[in-house]
Amino acid sequence: MASKGPEDEHPSVTLFRQYLRIRTVQPKPDYGAAVAFLEERAHQLSLSCQKVEVAPGFVVTVLTWPGTNPALSSILLNSHTDVVPVFKEHWSHDPFEAFKDSDGYIYGRGTQDMKCVSIQYLEAVRRLKVEGRSFPRTIHMTFVPDEEVGGHRGMELFVQRPEFQALRAGFALDEGLANPTDAFSVFYSERSVWWVRVTSTGKPGHGSRFIEDTAAEKLHKVVSTILAFREKERQRLQSNPHLKEGAVTSVNLTKLEGGVAYNVVPATMSAGFDFRVAPDVDLKAFEEQLHAWCQAAGEGVTFEFVQKWTKPRVTPTDDSDPWWAAFSQVFKDMNLTLEAEIFPATTDSRYLRAMGVPALGFSPMNHTPVLLHDHDERLHEAVFLRGIDIYAHLLPALASVPTLPSDN
Ligand SMILES: [Zn+2]
Repeated sequence: MASKGPEDEHPSVTLFRQYLRIRTVQPKPDYGAAVAFLEERAHQLSLSCQKVEVAPGFVVTVLTWPGTNPALSSILLNSHTDVVPVFKEHWSHDPFEAFKDSDGYIYGRGTQDMKCVSIQYLEAVRRLKVEGRSFPRTIHMTFVPDEEVGGHRGMELFVQRPEFQALRAGFALDEGLANPTDAFSVFYSERSVWWVRVTSTGKPGHGSRFIEDTAAEKLHKVVSTILAFREKERQRLQSNPHLKEGAVTSVNLTKLEGGVAYNVVPATMSAGFDFRVAPDVDLKAFEEQLHAWCQAAGEGVTFEFVQKWTKPRVTPTDDSDPWWAAFSQVFKDMNLTLEAEIFPATTDSRYLRAMGVPALGFSPMNHTPVLLHDHDERLHEAVFLRGIDIYAHLLPALASVPTLPSDN
């Protein structure tokens, strides 16, 4: 099949490729260019555009389509503007050229994570406006910076601002993951990130001797205990086909520090762990477990948190919940399969959920390998365009959810 020229390309695909070429790549994203692009979209769609600078140079852009009943809470469609770095030498095509091959695959950093979703929101809104539709609830599209490095100068600050309160978000959509099967993944919760540094202290001395009570022996005990826990969780996941990765707690030993010379037994050694704690785990009990593991290793073994998320929230996924009912009904109507899961890593949804806004993580990509943060990140144009159709059905359903007790 010959490559389609831009002249017969779907205009939504052309717009997507244009957005992919903006280099919002960490660690120095060109946010100015992204904001200018979004302002232009707001102008084209006759939407109001608000820019909220949450930190110097870090702008949250909010495009708003007002609903017919301003008394109701709004629908918030969130996407982040930044993308992760690339190893260009491992790519088949320049990751910032938005190359499209003859089969229709668009290559580029952000094709899956998550510039596709930003353009799908915009194009679904455009289509609905062209059709002359209007809905009771206001639709806000928020385009946030900094997500790929934790959202600390993005959504985390934005949710604390009066401008966020003024949006009166009743429900939010944010990013999900591709699904290689026929089904679409939707994420209703996330695991909590706990970065833990265990420090072990003991007797120092000459490297030729059998020193008693060394830091290394005790650290070894803690590492063994935690890796045994890891193996238990891994087996729990493997032995149950109904369990998805996000439903169990993962941990990896990611750092080892200590020692000054080969012939000196060090007085201090430390190990760093990246825990991802499943949302159904009692966090207080889990922290006590960490204490107990350290204590069992011997005197002088302590731990500290480098990062600790303590507000895991679960967005309801039962049909008695009006948001879930509206969301899931669209998939039934379109004869599409949904798989509800817990997100294995973190997204900006955690900040929204912690503020009491129910949020679902959803990126409409089925039949697509999960390539976020990977080399040759790509998306087929047909899958991309199908995603616009899905949002063009989802937005009317969500923005028409009748008055809820929480609206007052
Ligand atoms: Zn993302």
